[in-house]
Amino acid sequence: MFVGHYAAAFALKGKEKSASLGMLFIATQFVDILFFPFTLLGIERLNLVENFTAVNNFDLEYMPFTHGLLGSFLWSAVFYALYYFIFAKNKADKKSIALVMGLGVMSHWFADLLVHTPDLPIINGDPKLGFGLWQYKGLTFALEAVLLIISLVYYLKKTTAKSGVGKYAAIGFVGFLLLVNFLNFYVLPSDDNLVSVAISALLAYFVLAGIAFWVDTKRT
Ligand SMILES: [Zn+2]
Repeated sequence: MFVGHYAAAFALKGKEKSASLGMLFIATQFVDILFFPFTLLGIERLNLVENFTAVNNFDLEYMPFTHGLLGSFLWSAVFYALYYFIFAKNKADKKSIALVMGLGVMSHWFADLLVHTPDLPIINGDPKLGFGLWQYKGLTFALEAVLLIISLVYYLKKTTAKSGVGKYAAIGFVGFLLLVNFLNFYVLPSDDNLVSVAISALLAYFVLAGIAFWVDTKRT
């Protein structure tokens, strides 16, 4: 899953308005932000196999550290602790901010569970889980779109625009995310070079988080 992960970011921001939407974009994608460098370093393994699923060419062979249920839980605990003890330590609602950040990191595994082929370990090795929605391109696209739109409606309800820009920035941003997904699914050719896949994924994660930081400044 790619843009669908950001549904959790919008929903958690709606729940805890003192949390940064940009940082929630980082949190919900955090294990992927680690995964791509890990594959380049040989710590985890991604094979690019043409037509591996209807959506992409990802044969995710080995990724216990970032996409194991236990590994994900540990990264989410790290996020919780970083916010509780450092980044939000002087804020009255530090507990709730730390909690949404931790949940943001954790949400990634459960969203991936819906779409991945059985490649998500509990700890390491078998059993590996994944409901395999990636075998159905239209359904995967629709699922990510529905998740994003529901969470956007919730976010818009829970936050208020500071200006005219604030009224439409989030809606435009979600439209942009859906466009990116559409291009990815239906227009752009699949890339079979691991380095360029990793670089473009990381670039996308940080650029989108940057836009989320900006959107966040337009609403309270
Ligand atoms: Zn992932």
